[in-house]
Amino acid sequence: MQIKINFLGAAQNVTGSRYLLETNNTRILVDCGLYQERRFQSRNWDPLPIPPQTIDAILLTHAHLDHCGLLPKLVREGFRGKVYCTPATSEIAQIILLDSAHLQEEDAEFKKKRHEKEGRRGPYPEIPLYTIEDAKASFPLFSAVNYGCPVRISNDVEAIFYDAGHVLGSAMINVIVNREEEKRTIIFSGDVGQWDRPILQDPNVISKADYIVVESTYGDRIHDDSADINNNFAEIVNSTHQAGGNILIPSFALQRTQEVLYYMNDLLIEDRIPHLMVFLDSPMAIRITEIFKRHSELFDREMMERIHHSKSPFDFPGLKMVQTVDESKSINHIVGTVMVIAGSGMCTGGRIKHHLVNNISRRESTVLFVGYQAIGTLGRRIVDGAKRVRILGQYYPVRARIAQVHGFSAHADKDQLIKWLSGLTVAPEHVFITHGEAKTASHFAEYFKEKTGWRASVPSYREEAILK
Ligand SMILES: [Zn+2]
Repeated sequence: MQIKINFLGAAQNVTGSRYLLETNNTRILVDCGLYQERRFQSRNWDPLPIPPQTIDAILLTHAHLDHCGLLPKLVREGFRGKVYCTPATSEIAQIILLDSAHLQEEDAEFKKKRHEKEGRRGPYPEIPLYTIEDAKASFPLFSAVNYGCPVRISNDVEAIFYDAGHVLGSAMINVIVNREEEKRTIIFSGDVGQWDRPILQDPNVISKADYIVVESTYGDRIHDDSADINNNFAEIVNSTHQAGGNILIPSFALQRTQEVLYYMNDLLIEDRIPHLMVFLDSPMAIRITEIFKRHSELFDREMMERIHHSKSPFDFPGLKMVQTVDESKSINHIVGTVMVIAGSGMCTGGRIKHHLVNNISRRESTVLFVGYQAIGTLGRRIVDGAKRVRILGQYYPVRARIAQVHGFSAHADKDQLIKWLSGLTVAPEHVFITHGEAKTASHFAEYFKEKTGWRASVPSYREEAILK
């Protein structure tokens, strides 16, 4: 029996994770991610090499859009199998897919109007990639699987999910193909987290596999672990409080927001900052934080200790969850220092924009970045030192303090990836290095081969590999 993998995404780039695994009897997709880099977005419209209704199941590693964001499109095109993932991923992915569908609809409408006005046609159809209805149609297919519990996908394929320590519910997936002669195991790393991060458990280390498909987002870098997040946070909060301004933190709704709350809570407990009001001003981040609260079984020991002592970072004095737009706007009338955590993480949309309008020209306020800012985003222009920026159609001079706290990465660096791979006690047949820029992935492939002497390669888009 033959086993084949087709690399349909995250092959020499970092988004669009999607791998088609075929045996004589079964077809599964591991991840079904959206391409987010502008130069690859047209691939979101490419038809699959096989009809979607012939796929038996989809296995999701985690709820980030670049791993699950194309699922509604596949369902619209006829996929009717089950979508296996952990319970937390199932809950978070549904929130993220609805938000994505909403943005897809808005975007298509906006493009249509602009093209009509300019009397031209764009390179892609002016219809949403999928709609809110399509996203909702995918929800009944979700089937939750706990870590460590084998699940039968078909008569010859089983899978086991392990904690990847990347975001809540994230998994690495061991796919086991039962052949007459022998079993074959293929491990898909998903995104590998870092060791010793707040809230989550460390990534699981796997000791045996025939094949590995491993990410390489930071495969050419060593994280600077001297970045002292607590001290940096304390300094920024205290000096902004002294100046009498506000602290704005643009933040991603999943994981980063909860980590910011974790550090704030610690500083308050240690009495290192004044007891100011902290507004979580993002309905999506609030819903995801509620999912964190329901899944304390996924927390690490330090986090459990805080919960047992009634010191949960998701429920401390001064923390306010802001649901409505009116409540959000009323924050601007508060005198004295407050902290506002709002989306989007790169200031491309969401409620952070109106807080920026009210604060970016105030010398006493601080805009604090805790995440990567992609080229072309408002967040990037601000961290790059723009003197004035356009927000909601108007220009504003940048006078606020612009600060960054580093050290928040949710991805393993190259030595941590090696540490994870070194958990294997026997050399695998082959290691496929994916989910990294072409240069980064090749660098990591060379580094890995040098360190271990094992076989590895960097597959290209739509490359097919036959497994022995
Ligand atoms: Zn991820």
